[in-house]
Amino acid sequence: MPSFYVTTPIYYVNAAPHMGHAYTTIVTDVMARHHRQRGEDVFFLTGTDEHGEPVADAAKAQGVEPKELADRNAERFQALMPRLEASNDFFIRTSDDAHKRRVQEVLARVHENGHTYKGLYEGWYCPRCADFKVENEILEGNRCPIHEIELVREQEENWFFRLSSFQDDLERLYADRPDFVMPRERYNEALAFIRSGLQDIPMSRGRLTWGVEVPWDPDHVFYVWFDALLNYYTALSYARDGDDLTERFWPANFHIIGKDILRFHTVFWPAMLMAADLPLPEHVFVHGFLLGADGRKMSKSLGNVLDPFEVIDRWGVDALRFYLLRDVTFGADGATSIDAVQTRYEGELANELGNLASRTIAMIGRYRDGVVPAVDPDPAVVAEFEELVPAVSALIDRADLTPALEEIWRRVRRLNRYVEEQAPWQLAKDEARAADLDCVLRTLAEALRVVTVLLWPWLPSSAERLLAALGAEELSLAEARLDAGRVREVAKLEPLFPKHS
Ligand SMILES: [Zn+2]
Repeated sequence: MPSFYVTTPIYYVNAAPHMGHAYTTIVTDVMARHHRQRGEDVFFLTGTDEHGEPVADAAKAQGVEPKELADRNAERFQALMPRLEASNDFFIRTSDDAHKRRVQEVLARVHENGHTYKGLYEGWYCPRCADFKVENEILEGNRCPIHEIELVREQEENWFFRLSSFQDDLERLYADRPDFVMPRERYNEALAFIRSGLQDIPMSRGRLTWGVEVPWDPDHVFYVWFDALLNYYTALSYARDGDDLTERFWPANFHIIGKDILRFHTVFWPAMLMAADLPLPEHVFVHGFLLGADGRKMSKSLGNVLDPFEVIDRWGVDALRFYLLRDVTFGADGATSIDAVQTRYEGELANELGNLASRTIAMIGRYRDGVVPAVDPDPAVVAEFEELVPAVSALIDRADLTPALEEIWRRVRRLNRYVEEQAPWQLAKDEARAADLDCVLRTLAEALRVVTVLLWPWLPSSAERLLAALGAEELSLAEARLDAGRVREVAKLEPLFPKHS
């Protein structure tokens, strides 16, 4: 059985869960669910990043231990997962003892392999990023390119990672594997950074205690990024009690990340893995940012924030999941707004899918007492659906989640047109056309089932309700064919996407 391992970044505990976290989690969940439908052995990882100076500072300000603050904040992210209907197989916390032990093991190997040295580092540091900035990325006025706050000059004795010695290896990696980083524009950005000449990077902090202790120098803790990146690897060793999943799932197939953490994942991470003699992930997919309705970065002060919880409370989590992948092309930046959610909800979910479902079920009830006629489906429609599953799968293999959804949605629209063209209400008036009506009803029932199975990763609750009404709860893609003959009898269905005022 093929395996599929997909990850979100781990979320920094100091932040409150917001749309950005919801977005990355949802897209990763869509991929995980689709691969499960293929019958693959899937592992979907998410979690929290808990070490580093920002957490230590915030805890100090609140007069608590860092671990206490981390526990409290990690809970908010753990609670987020069921609200999004995320089907993650594990939730890693970097304060887990098993994670820390594994980090020490891997980085001790990096040290033994000769990729570290002790040196003095001086540079411009952003306390919010917990990261030093290099000259060419610093904004005017000596500010952080991400946080736009003023940087501080820091000097300290650190352990360094010899990133510079991986210059050739990384260039070769990018030449050999043009889909290591996706989409292309992000690949180019990462490669340009590599080609600009890699410098060694600090891998430990000497003045901090909230972190993973450096095993060969206990006065230091690892720099938060080293410990955080390794979560993708360490989680597999202890996610299941007494069962190390590393062999089964490593290397990861996809790391899904936002573009703000590109460099860590596309440059430092593969170099670290090479330094530890570990296999590299297949793909790092870098998505864009969700923006406010005005096309600017969401911020409370601009009043352009789309709150995921508001969307969930008004229209349900399926509406949020659908909207985010339908309205914003996955990979690119895109504007978002509550009005646009409402438009997609009413115009597509309610009027197209909801309507197709309710009229299909109603007609089978009215004309055939709820029993689907056991005849062959319309060969013209069968042909139009033939390539659907492989087409959707091929798109999802490239994380083209928006085109994949469009591919399915075209069939939803096609089926609504089919209803109009065939006009079953006319056929029902003419006894001589009973066989035609049987065929139309059968075609609609089966095709509706197929699109619903395919839509399940985006709309898990609605799809499950609809499949239950069709009496066919099977989610496997192998059975997502019109001639599978799964729908025999339909049951009443409450509106899938009720109109709200
Ligand atoms: Zn910053």
